[in-house]
Amino acid sequence: MDDFVYAEVDPAELAEYREQVQTWMGENMPRRDRDNPWHPTRDDDEQSSRNRELQRRLFDGGYAAVCYPLKYGGQSLTIAHQRIIDEVSMGFDMPLLFSVPTLSICGPTILEYGTEQQKQRYIPAWIRGDELWVQFMSEPSGGSDMAGALTRADRDGDAFVINGSKIWSTFAQRSDYALMLARTNWEVPKHRGLTMFIVPIRHQGIEIHPIKMVDGTDEFCQEYFNDVIIPAGNVVGEVDDGWSVASRLLFHERAAVGNASPYTQGRHRGRSASGLADLVAAARRRSADEQGRLRQQIGRVVAMRQLEPLLSARVVRGIEEGRLAAPAGSLVRLFHGLAQMERQTAAFEIRGDSALVWKPGDTSGGYGVEYVQRQQACIGGGTTEMARNIISERILGMPRESAADRDLPFNQVPRRG
Ligand SMILES: Cc1cc2nc3c(=O)[nH]c(=O)nc-3n(C[C@H](O)[C@H](O)[C@H](O)COP(=O)(O)OP(=O)(O)OC[C@H]3O[C@@H](n4cnc5c(N)ncnc54)[C@H](O)[C@@H]3O)c2cc1C
Repeated sequence: MDDFVYAEVDPAELAEYREQVQTWMGENMPRRDRDNPWHPTRDDDEQSSRNRELQRRLFDGGYAAVCYPLKYGGQSLTIAHQRIIDEVSMGFDMPLLFSVPTLSICGPTILEYGTEQQKQRYIPAWIRGDELWVQFMSEPSGGSDMAGALTRADRDGDAFVINGSKIWSTFAQRSDYALMLARTNWEVPKHRGLTMFIVPIRHQGIEIHPIKMVDGTDEFCQEYFNDVIIPAGNVVGEVDDGWSVASRLLFHERAAVGNASPYTQGRHRGRSASGLADLVAAARRRSADEQGRLRQQIGRVVAMRQLEPLLSARVVRGIEEGRLAAPAGSLVRLFHGLAQMERQTAAFEIRGDSALVWKPGDTSGGYGVEYVQRQQACIGGGTTEMARNIISERILGMPRESAADRDLPFNQVPRRG
């Protein structure tokens, strides 16, 4: 990873940069509709094309993926510059589909493990808004045990033939490429027989099935691979060493999910992230005997909201200076999941019936939908239970969880069917 990302910057230079970003955003990016930021039946195709267009605008202005190296289309700037863009862009529509996973998870993985040819081919295309990526990691047999992947890639001359299935891939049907983990060697223990591939999504043998969500959208997909032929040049890292690549991908994913990545662009702001004043006003409308309980609930939300960026900055700095090991990213991932749950639960409970039953066009229903989806924050990007495992084993030094399959050749691991 390039050192410039974490370099110290003169505060005067940053102040000037903030002014430039404010002026440019005001003139070039559409403002967020504050009265109606929640669209329950948003059209996902429209969202995808709009994200591509907004990413292109950022690129043309010189504000896309600013922590990426100049030679691949970034600006070789620092995380402090990116944070300024994140703060200023809160009031504007941003191409968040490009932020995660394309630029912040797949991107740094390719920067670290990709060949020069892969970097030159793919990175500028993300930054210009031409190509959207997705991760094909989770499988129907389970996402937490990523090293237990059953999707197979069998060598055939200069290519691999892929068969199997992946699931919970965000926006796969509207993406162009995927990073995919598949098993290339069944005769070694599970972590040693995996390979990471770049897979073009609209490709012979790949079937994509959208999964209908509780809010009517189809954000997730399941994919089926039937004799999909992928050239060996699409391997990222070394054949059978995909776990090293996947481990770094997971590191970048935890950082992105915990708002600690230099490669995210803009921040997600659901309804429950809206102003504290709204929450307090809603609480005041509730009965007098509920006020004490609601005050405590709001207090917890405020405390977590203030702690989250401080924790994230401390962990980022600790990892960068070598005081904390890379698994410390799990601290911010865990905290983010818990804080998000707390926010969405409070926003729903404080609004009471209006978040439960609402008339068409009444935006308070958004709090109800966010409440139903609230566990996403504790599952996507690796579950909070897995984050707790990592913290206990790899930061606190507690004994490792027992795993009967860890040292067995994968083809000898007993499994159903
Ligand atoms: C918003 C969102 C976006 C996502 N996007 C993608 C994507 O783009 N690509 C992709 O590949 N996947 C994606 N996922 C899937 C996600 O990575 C998986 O859901 C997650 O890793 C958990 O896997 P699972 O759902 O199969 O649950 P399982 O792994 O089956 O786990 C079930 C439960 O058991 C717990 N558990 C499992 N093992 C342990 C253990 N050893 N110790 C303690 N508890 C354990 C888990 O924490 C969980 O509560 C996304 C998920 C969400 C919610």
